[in-house]
Amino acid sequence: MTTKVDLLSLLPAELEEYFISIGEPKFRAKQVFARLHKGERIGEITNLSKALRERLCNETIDTLPTVEEKLVSKIDGTVKYLFRLHDGACIESVFMKYKHGNTLCISSQVGCRMGCKFCASTIGGRVRDLYPSELLGQVIAAEKDGGERVSNIVMMGIGEPLDNYDNVIQFLKLVNHPDGLNIGYRHISLSTCGVVDGINRLAEEDLPITLSISLHAPNDARRSEIMPINNKWGVSALLDACLAYYKKTGRRISFEYTLISGKNDSESDAIELADVLNKVFRPAGAPIHVNLIRVNEVKETGFKKGSAESVNAFAKTLERRGITATVRRKLGSDVNAACGQLRRSNLNKKEEQ
Ligand code: SAH
Repeated sequence: MTTKVDLLSLLPAELEEYFISIGEPKFRAKQVFARLHKGERIGEITNLSKALRERLCNETIDTLPTVEEKLVSKIDGTVKYLFRLHDGACIESVFMKYKHGNTLCISSQVGCRMGCKFCASTIGGRVRDLYPSELLGQVIAAEKDGGERVSNIVMMGIGEPLDNYDNVIQFLKLVNHPDGLNIGYRHISLSTCGVVDGINRLAEEDLPITLSISLHAPNDARRSEIMPINNKWGVSALLDACLAYYKKTGRRISFEYTLISGKNDSESDAIELADVLNKVFRPAGAPIHVNLIRVNEVKETGFKKGSAESVNAFAKTLERRGITATVRRKLGSDVNAACGQLRRSNLNKKEEQ
């Protein structure tokens, strides 16, 4: 059996090669690329001959993620999707409405192997990487389902994007392509737990996306306790890579800091965080921003969130030291929007059956 060609993972030049290889004119690539990226299936592209459509249906993969479960927030309209992929694996995506446009948070892997102690996505480990077509498929399927255009993408769902490097880069090129969804790199954020060799590679790609770093602790002792990746690349190596990313791309670095009660949310933690960020970024005049979020309590981890006041106090301490910080408004709090929890509850349901 020959392997099927995954058309939605291919850039126009690669699609041209494919069509030439099956004896078709290369202009087919432009037609098919645009239509597939609008969410049409091969069978619907009626300006292809019936014979060609049939051939493509047999020889190529033509699936989009399907909606397995969908939760709509009554508070703010946030939509949390549990998408099912062709092999039955499930991932999550979250559609959020902001003033600056509709944002989709997408997953990059089925599960995750990074092992962050507070995170639901990593509990069962990594099952597999997502293909470029499955990264893009989340955007197409969400647009189709909701009937609204996605204008911003955050790679903050299940998985570690820099642990699926090549497919993520291909996805970024696909979703940015003017003949496809045409989402600007500046409207895309990639969040990483701190895979430093990936950050260094990304800096060389010349794709001006926003880099978001899940920092969550101001020093190695604290960070290694909750994030195993820190044993490989410590805080100082991570921040140096961020500075190099800024120097190369000119893009402001965004830091995520999840406050866990009694673990990393004291005033002295805030002071230490401000000091370490100032020390690395201030001399270079590099703009940075800290997003604070209270930990989402995950049954399996036992971590607790602190009070709203403790987050505000943490933000004030940072700001007094010249670090801009925002307390992230949590959308979809009534739809279990914490990353990985919907997939877990679906897996648990299956195990109970
Ligand atoms: N692997 C990437 C992207 C996915 S996680 C990364 O680590 O950045 C997206 C964000 O959610 C990260 O900042 C992660 O640390 C955070 N996160 C995971 N579990 C969380 C929880 N229970 N509460 C709050 N934030 C959480």
